[in-house]
This record gives sequence, C-alpha cells and structure tokens, in this order.
Amino acid sequence: MIVMKFGGTSIGDAAAIRRTISIITKKMRSKPVVVVSACSGVTNLLHQLVDFTEEGEKEKSEQIISSIKQRHKSTVDELASGVDPKRPTPDTAEINQKIDTLCNSLWTLSKAHMGGQIPDADKAYMISLGEYLSSNIVCFMMNALGLKTAWLDARHFMITSHDYLTAAADVPEVQKRATSVIERAFKNADAVITQGFMGVTIEGDPTIMGRGSSDYSASLLGMVLDADRIEIWTDVDGICTADPNIVPEARGISKLSYEEAAELARFGAKVLHPLSIEPAASKNIPLYVLNSMNPDCEGTVVMNRSCIFDGVKSISYNENIRMINIYSPKMINTSGFMSKIFGIFERQGVSVDMISTAEASVTVTVDASVNTDPLAAALSKLGNVTVDRDKSQVSIIGKNLIGVKGAVAAVFEAVSDSKIYMMSQGSSFLNLSIVVDRPEMTAVIRKLHKSFFENGN
Ligand code: ADP
Ligand code: ASP
Ligand code: MG
Repeated sequence: MIVMKFGGTSIGDAAAIRRTISIITKKMRSKPVVVVSACSGVTNLLHQLVDFTEEGEKEKSEQIISSIKQRHKSTVDELASGVDPKRPTPDTAEINQKIDTLCNSLWTLSKAHMGGQIPDADKAYMISLGEYLSSNIVCFMMNALGLKTAWLDARHFMITSHDYLTAAADVPEVQKRATSVIERAFKNADAVITQGFMGVTIEGDPTIMGRGSSDYSASLLGMVLDADRIEIWTDVDGICTADPNIVPEARGISKLSYEEAAELARFGAKVLHPLSIEPAASKNIPLYVLNSMNPDCEGTVVMNRSCIFDGVKSISYNENIRMINIYSPKMINTSGFMSKIFGIFERQGVSVDMISTAEASVTVTVDASVNTDPLAAALSKLGNVTVDRDKSQVSIIGKNLIGVKGAVAAVFEAVSDSKIYMMSQGSSFLNLSIVVDRPEMTAVIRKLHKSFFENGN
C-alpha cells in the first residue's frame, strides 16, 4: 500500500486534476490511498466566509458560496468534456448534485449564524468543505475513466482532540479505525480517495488540524497503514535549497534525513507541514516530495539519517514573526526569573521559536499569528516589554552544522549590509537562525543561497 497526497495546486483546475489522475493511474497496482487538499485558494475563501458570516455580511457570504459552487461545477464540466471520445460521456448529474448539497449545507450554516459567533465545530465543518468538494470530484473523474475508486470520509477514522480548529490527532484511535475502514474500502476498489486536514472528535463533532495539515494527515495514515512509501505531490521539484519562489536559482535536494526535513519545516519551509515527518520517521517509511507539474523529476526522498552526508542543505524562513524583549535589572544575579517568564508563555499556550539572553534581558520570537497583547500585559509584571513586529527569521538547515567550516563566517558575510537582531544555533546543530528586518529578508536569503549553493558549491 502507498499513500499519495496531492496539495491544492495539484488539483487546482481540470488540467491539474487530469495530470494528478495520470500520476495515480501509474500506481494502481500499489493500492494507492490518495489524500487530497482543497483546490488551491478554496480554504482561504472558506475562512473569509466564516469571517463575513460572523460580521453579518450576508451578500458577501452568498457571493463566496456561489463562486465556490461555480468554480467546482465548471471544473466538472471541463473534466467531463475532455474525456476520450471513445469512452462514454460521463454522467455529471450525481457529482453536480453533490456539489449543490455541500454548498447548500454551507449556506444553511452561514444563514443560521449570520451576524453571530459560529460555534467552533460548525466553523471546522465549513472550513473543511473544500476537501469534501475536491475529493468527490477526483473520485468522480477516476471512475469516469474506468479506474475503480472508492471515496472515503476521513471523519470515519481521523479521530482528534477537542481543539476544533487546531485539533491534534488521537493516534491510537486513528490506528484502531483506519486499517479496517480502508481495507473495507479496497474490497470493491483499486484506489481509495480521502481528505486531508479534517478530523472528528470521538463524539463525532467536526474538527480541522490547522493550515497545511494535509501533509500530516497523509503521513499519519502512512504510518498507521504501514505503507511502503508516502508521496507528497506539490508544485515544486521536491524540497529545494531554498524556496524557489524567492530564489530562482534554488535546486531540488535528492536526499534529506527525517531530522533535517523536520527542522526545515519547523523553521518555516512551507513545502512540508512541521508535523508530517515524525509519523513517517517512527516507522522508517520513506517520504517522497514530488512535483505533479513535472512528474518525471526525481524529487526529494526523506529517509533515515545514516544515508545522509553532513553540511548545509537548505535555507528556510518565516517572513512574519514577532520579537518580544523583556528587560529587567532585577534579573541580574537572581535565579528563577526565566521560569517565571516561560511560565507565562506556558499558561498562555504560546510556543517560543528562538531565544537569546543577556544579563538583564531576554528576547524571544513567536509566530505572527500569536496575539501578543495579553502576553505583553502579563510579561510587563516582570519588566519592561517591547514587541517588534516587522521582523523575519532566516535559517540555514543541515546536518551537523557545527562541523561545517566557515558556516558562521558565511552567514556574517551574507548579512554584512543588514542588521542581525538575534542569532541562535540549535543544540542539535541542525539549524543556525538569525532575525533580520522584514524588508531585508529576500536579499538576505538570496545572498545566503549564493554563498552556500552557487559559485560552484
Ligand atoms: P501544497 O498546496 O502542495 O501543499 P504548499 O504551497 O503548501 O503546496 O507548499 C509548496 C510551496 O512551498 C512551494 O510552492 C514553495 O513556494 C514553498 N517552499 C518553501 N520553502 C521551500 C523549499 N525549501 N523547497 C521547496 N518549496 C518550498
Ligand atoms: N486545505 C488546507 C489548507 O489550505 C489544508 C492543506 O492544504 O494542507 O490549509
Ligand atoms: Mg501544503
């Protein structure tokens, strides 16, 4: 069995869906379990719908639902009309009916909560609808092409915690259900299509697992099913030496260790969700990152570290971070101050990415999605607090960076024209991170890339 995950751009329109189906077709003998995201941009629209509904913007909400419906229906039309003329023209009545039903359920919920607070479980249902739509369309088209494919609701096996919008998978419960549900689905089919991103509480309430989490859904499924391989199909030639959308010279990396890939994802490389490595690593399942627009490219395999050489592999970034500084002369020569500071972060459920300390101050970085107002209010009881907004974190990632001669010098050289506000080397020697002004970020990444990967390196 293999698990294949296709992201939003891989199923973004009829042409992309055709390419994706031709990729799946070549793997039909390996019992593919296919995990799909929503078509590109649809999850953003659903988030907007939730906001408009709560703001009481009835017309705008209606417009969003109608554009979602229109987009999926025209994809179906284009797919159906492009089928080989030697095959019977697919009957689109049933799939169009499904699209209507799903969009009507969106409208029912939107109307019911117009101008009020939407309960989190309903929000989770609404936001996950993109995955229901896309998976139904891919399944319809595969069957229309004669590929026996079963559609499976991920909520039959993806049991999660009760944090409806940022739910964590309940791995033992997923393990209990997934194998039997998927084996049953394969009884009458050669491929199974399901959805990433969404889950359900043990009581049956809808949840979602956070933006970009379909990669995690796929990896977890691969783990519980003991898959032979996990394939993450996206829109770039695998994991690259930097984000190719920032550095045109970036090139694909053929092999990375699980640790390196996890560090890259944790430090901002959007190509993989930060949680997606651990499940594959726990069973030593190779995880491939591949390009659905260029399926012949070998992409990247993420695997056991013993096969991987030392050195810098990639540059990642988080464009929008907050830098929080707590200054207090009371810190000097006292103990327990740090524990007070981090106690506040813990109580507010905020995770810290980078830390640096001086005699009388502590500086940390947090993601821009964190609401820093209550945090700053609580921290100000301990000292003077400042929050800097316009900063970016840039990291070089690799194996055993401490052994790479000149790595730190190359970083200083690359940023000699820019200010560095913080610098830290992870104790695992997998990352070396700096904080720079946000407008400088792209130039810094390009200079680092030049220094580590161009000029014959
Ligand atoms: P999908 O919709 O397939 O999940 P994402 O947009 O989530 O795709 O992830 C793919 C994107 O990740 C690429 O288009 C690229 O801009 C970005 N990216 C960031 N860092 C890297 C990297 N080191 N290598 C490749 N892609 C990267
Ligand atoms: N569709 C979801 C998102 O846009 C999940 C995913 O793409 O992985 O965040
Ligand atoms: Mg993604």
